[in-house]
Amino acid sequence: MAAAVRWRPARVLALVAGFALAFTLYRGLIYDPDTVTVGDQKISLKKLKGKPFDVDPLMKMTGPPEGKLYGPGEAERVNATLLSLVRNEELDGILQAMGDLERTFNSKFNYPWTFINDVPFTEKFIRATRAKTKAEVFYEVIPKEHWEVPAWINPDLMKASSDLLLEQKVQYSAMRSYHQMCRWNSGMFYKHPALLKYRWYWRVEPKVHFFCDVDYDVFRYMQDYNKTYGFVINIYDSPESIASLWPATEEFIAEHPEHIHPNNAMRWLTDSENRPIHNKKANGYSTCHFWSNFEIADMEFWRSKKYEDYFNHLDRAGGFFYERWGDAPVHSIALGLMEDRDKIHWFHDIGYQHIPYFNCPNSNKCKGCEAGRFTDGTGLDQEDCRINWFKYAHMD
Ligand code: GDP
Ligand code: MN
Repeated sequence: MAAAVRWRPARVLALVAGFALAFTLYRGLIYDPDTVTVGDQKISLKKLKGKPFDVDPLMKMTGPPEGKLYGPGEAERVNATLLSLVRNEELDGILQAMGDLERTFNSKFNYPWTFINDVPFTEKFIRATRAKTKAEVFYEVIPKEHWEVPAWINPDLMKASSDLLLEQKVQYSAMRSYHQMCRWNSGMFYKHPALLKYRWYWRVEPKVHFFCDVDYDVFRYMQDYNKTYGFVINIYDSPESIASLWPATEEFIAEHPEHIHPNNAMRWLTDSENRPIHNKKANGYSTCHFWSNFEIADMEFWRSKKYEDYFNHLDRAGGFFYERWGDAPVHSIALGLMEDRDKIHWFHDIGYQHIPYFNCPNSNKCKGCEAGRFTDGTGLDQEDCRINWFKYAHMD
C-alpha cells in the first residue's frame, strides 16, 4: 500500500491558494478570450473594437480566395441579379445607392437590376433608374398573396402586441408594412416568379453607400468557391423584437434534427459572454446577426426544403406580426443552424454604409470611408459583433 498522505488543513490551504494564484495569473496574463489562433498566428480580436482595425489577419480567416478571381470580361456572367425592394418615394435614395454600385462594380460587370415593389412603379421611377445603368433593368410587382398578412394572424392580437412593443420602444413595431416587408424578405422574395430564373442575388437598399472598387466578379467568386452567403456587417438586434424567435427555433430543432448541419455556427448563435443581457432577453439567442440590408447570396439555400420547413414553422408561430421578427435574424439563425459555416463569407473588401454602420476596409481601392470605422453614431460601437463571428465560426 502506498504511504498515506496526511491532509493537514495547512497543506490543503496552501494547495488551494497555489491553484488560485496560478489560475489568476493564467486568466490575467496569458489567456485572452479574444484571441483566436489561425494556423500558427495568434490574432487579437480586440482590435475589431477599436479603430482603425487591421483587416489583414481577419482576411486570412475568411478569404480573400487564393485561387482565380475573374475581372471584367474575363468570364461569363453567372446567373445573378442585383435586387432591390423599394418604394416609389425612395427614388432619390435608390439612385444614390445605384450610382455607387454602378461606379464601383456593376459598370464593369453589367449584372441586371431587378426592382420589386408591392405597388406598381411609377413612370418617373422607371425612367430615372433605367438611366442610371447600361445593364438590363426589370420592374416587378409582388403577388398579393406573398405580401398580405396571412389569414391565421389575429388582427386584435396584432394590435395589442404592437402597442406593447411600442411601449418597449421597438422601432417600426406599429408599422404594418414593415412587418410585411420582414416576412417577405424572410420567406417570399426568392419565390417571386421574376426571380425564379436566377440563382444569385445582391440585395441593395436605398441610401446605402459603396466605397471601394470591386474588380472581380463577386457572384462568380461565390459560385466558384462554393459559398452560400456573403455579408459585410454583423450586429446585435433589439432583443424585444424577437423575444420568442429562439424558443420557436428550438421547437423547430426538436422537430427537425435532420436539418441541422454538422458544421453549424451554434456557438455564434447562442453566445452569452459578450452581451449576456441580450441573450437573456432573447431567451437563448445572442441576437448577433448578419445585417441583411446587404446580402450576396444563393437563393438555392432559401429554396431548400430545410429552409422552407423553418420559414413555415416561424410563419405559423406568428412572430412576424405579434413580435417584430426581422429577416436579418431569421436568415442568420437559419444559416447558423442549417448551413456549413465555412460557406459563409465576409466581404471584407466591400466598403459599405447603411446608416448608422460601416464596413471600411483598409485599402487604396476605397474612397470616402475611414479605414476601420464602424459607426458614425455615438455609443454604438458596442453593437458590432463581427468579433463573435470570427471567434466562434473560425475557431479552427
Ligand atoms: P430599415 O433598413 O430596417 O430601416 O428599413 P427600410 O425602411 O430601409 O426597409 C428595408 C427595405 O425594404 C428597403 O429596401 C425599403 O425600400 C424596403 N421597404 C420597406 N417597406 C416597404 C414597403 O412597404 N414597400 C416597398 N415596396 N418596399 C419597402
Ligand atoms: Mn434600410
